[in-house]
Amino acid sequence: MPVWRLRGIILPAGEPGEVYVDGDRITFTPVAGAETVADGGYLLPGLVDVHCHPGTSGIGEPLDERLLRTHGEQLRAAGVSAVRVPGSAGRLPSWFGADPDLPRVREAGLAVAAEGGFFPGWGRQLPPERIPAAAAEESRASGGWCKLIVDWLTDDGGYAPTMSPEVVAAATRAVRRAGGRVAAHTQHAAGGAAAVLAGVDSVEHGMHLPEDLLDTMAAQGTALVPTATAFAHLAPLMADPQVPAGTRTWFGEGWRRHPGLARAAYEAGVTVLAGTDLPPGHLTEEIRWLAEAGLPGDVAVGAASWTARAWLGLPGIEEGAPADLLAFDTDPRRRLDVLDRPSRVIVRGRLVR
Ligand SMILES: [Zn+2]
Repeated sequence: MPVWRLRGIILPAGEPGEVYVDGDRITFTPVAGAETVADGGYLLPGLVDVHCHPGTSGIGEPLDERLLRTHGEQLRAAGVSAVRVPGSAGRLPSWFGADPDLPRVREAGLAVAAEGGFFPGWGRQLPPERIPAAAAEESRASGGWCKLIVDWLTDDGGYAPTMSPEVVAAATRAVRRAGGRVAAHTQHAAGGAAAVLAGVDSVEHGMHLPEDLLDTMAAQGTALVPTATAFAHLAPLMADPQVPAGTRTWFGEGWRRHPGLARAAYEAGVTVLAGTDLPPGHLTEEIRWLAEAGLPGDVAVGAASWTARAWLGLPGIEEGAPADLLAFDTDPRRRLDVLDRPSRVIVRGRLVR
């Protein structure tokens, strides 16, 4: 396999350096015969989308393995070297994640929800007494994560918690005992409070999350994944008069306060991460939304790069690290538009661009 050499300002530290990519490994020790593929500019640790659902064509659709490969290829072409899939439409096949020509994968198995508390046909929808054991099972089956849907749309067009705080806490404890981590889907004030007080690892979406929970999140290390661009895509649909009035009000109010929530979370010291949800693959748009919401440019880029990598146990550009990186002619922390135009993309040691 060829060895690549890249020279540039290494982010986030900002020091100039010379990096060699030897198989799926980064080293600073010169390797004979390396081919220089970037000389000057900036080197960014590989991008990570911490919330996306590849292999799904739409809400309620089954997992489509051909589409899963297509989405994986599209993500990689855009420089995304790792994804966290918090709940998928079906069991992810073992080739996804094992294939060195596709991004690395962290997953959460099937989402665990209350009966009627998720899209019809998706996830495991269970009575309360079965939720903690199922949550632990999913985290074991997926090798790391469980996704809990703690609140959902109601039949009358509203939105409400679907699990009691006691069930959310019991499920979180069960996943912890199994050695896993919990991603809580919440878009409701009381659901968000239940998730944060249970000590989940991440709040997914977080719409309507009360800002007085942010200090607790920061203290216990609960991350916020606002998935804002998914909401931005949904906003025109949710404004349709056909949508029940309660749903429109719930969505409209949540969406209006979402940028302020992201900024307040950052200011409180919460780890804010970039995820795209459905459809997958507009990660750079999410980074720019975070910056527009008020996160500094380097923090917004880190939310999809070094911060997200550290959070998933993936080192950045370090000796012996997995070989995921991008090269840019200009500093992507100062010019977020260039994130769409890397001069080089290396994912799992392969030169993609
Ligand atoms: Zn999602």
